Amino acid sequence: MKDILISGASIAGPALAWWLHHHGFAPTLVEKAPAPRPGGHAIDIRGAALDVVRAMGIEDAIRDRRTQMKGVSKLDADGNEVWRSEEMTISGGSFGKQAIEIMRDDLSRILLSALPDDIEIIYGDSVVSLDEAEAGVAVSFEKSPARRFDLVVGADGLGSAMRKLVFGPDERFLHPFDVVLAPYSAPNIIGLEDWQLTYDSGTDSCMIYTAPGNRDLRVCFGFSAKLGDVPADRAGQMALVRRECGHMGWHVPELLDAMEQSRDFYMGPMAQVRMDRWTRSRIALVGDAAYCPSPLTGQGTSLAIVGAYALAWELSRSPDDHAAAFARYEERMRPFVSRNQAIAELTRDPRFSEDPGYYVEVIEPAMEAAEYAVELEGLG
Ligand SMILES: Cc1cc2nc3c(=O)[nH]c(=O)nc-3n(C[C@H](O)[C@H](O)[C@H](O)COP(=O)(O)OP(=O)(O)OC[C@H]3O[C@@H](n4cnc5c(N)ncnc54)[C@H](O)[C@@H]3O)c2cc1C
Repeated sequence: MKDILISGASIAGPALAWWLHHHGFAPTLVEKAPAPRPGGHAIDIRGAALDVVRAMGIEDAIRDRRTQMKGVSKLDADGNEVWRSEEMTISGGSFGKQAIEIMRDDLSRILLSALPDDIEIIYGDSVVSLDEAEAGVAVSFEKSPARRFDLVVGADGLGSAMRKLVFGPDERFLHPFDVVLAPYSAPNIIGLEDWQLTYDSGTDSCMIYTAPGNRDLRVCFGFSAKLGDVPADRAGQMALVRRECGHMGWHVPELLDAMEQSRDFYMGPMAQVRMDRWTRSRIALVGDAAYCPSPLTGQGTSLAIVGAYALAWELSRSPDDHAAAFARYEERMRPFVSRNQAIAELTRDPRFSEDPGYYVEVIEPAMEAAEYAVELEGLG
């Protein structure tokens, strides 16, 4: 058993490909986007995930690209500062911790660059059907000719097409929090320097912060919406942001204008994926596709990296018995996933955005307890 197809090349996909290759498998990545996808907010690598990137030899490259923010201010509807902290940011937590905050696209680029040249990456394509047989899986693609693989892994994110194809419709597994997030990059039109802002209009809010170097801002609007209310097309999604957030004052009108020009606008529901099993027959899911904890936990990327490691490790322990490897992967990851998904309940508390003390006294200890709640073998 050698050839493994991985659908999705953001975080979980390339991390899994790296570790599978390391253990002597031949992974192939297929990514729907025509090239590595730009965009995404600051994400965090914590706890066991740090041990994994260290073992891959990419920790320094990641630290070199980490965000450089020196603090956060909360602004009221008129743009006046209500409170500030120079000890933490909302997105990255308290300073002085081991955790690394980095932009999603920077991390994805570093993971993709770390892949050996003989790993095939097919961009601009996706799996349309799987036909499982005794000896493997016959895979049909939207564009490429059909091929056979020994195993197939879905690392295709929250809206995973692989999950729908193999396990069933979203309604069974997606638990939405009825909030939609719309992050994008904009030129630094407000002259912010190494800083984060949360702007609260009274009814809605947005978060704004500098990308490393201060040339660009990352802006993220968040508002109430049901899963079914999110249009599939970019123009419809931007129109929804304008409809929901157009009433906001301060610099929001300029930031909304910049959204129209943004090359990396992204819209995603705030939701968790909860499944009883992440594997079936010759197919497995990893990362957000399997167990997205939602941005409310700040742990999606760490779960994806650790999950990728654990899956590759278990396959390496029994390369000719994928069923046993899948069972061990489920067993190893289940408590880690449950513990990290539970953080969402704590961050949904209104005190999370109102009281910096709540973050330090309640959220941070819970995260610290969860980030190492998995036993990883073989990391040296
Ligand atoms: C553009 C983008 C912006 C994001 N912004 C944020 C953010 O601001 N805040 C946050 O907390 N999280 C964000 N995320 C999610 C975050 O990256 C994940 O929570 C986490 O890092 C786990 O990564 P993942 O690889 O499991 O999933 P993802 O990072 O979601 O990656 C899934 C990958 O699969 C690809 N894909 C999707 N469908 C198919 C298909 N049918 N065939 C092939 N490939 C497919 C996608 O293009 C993507 O590259 C974003 C993800 C993306 C793709």
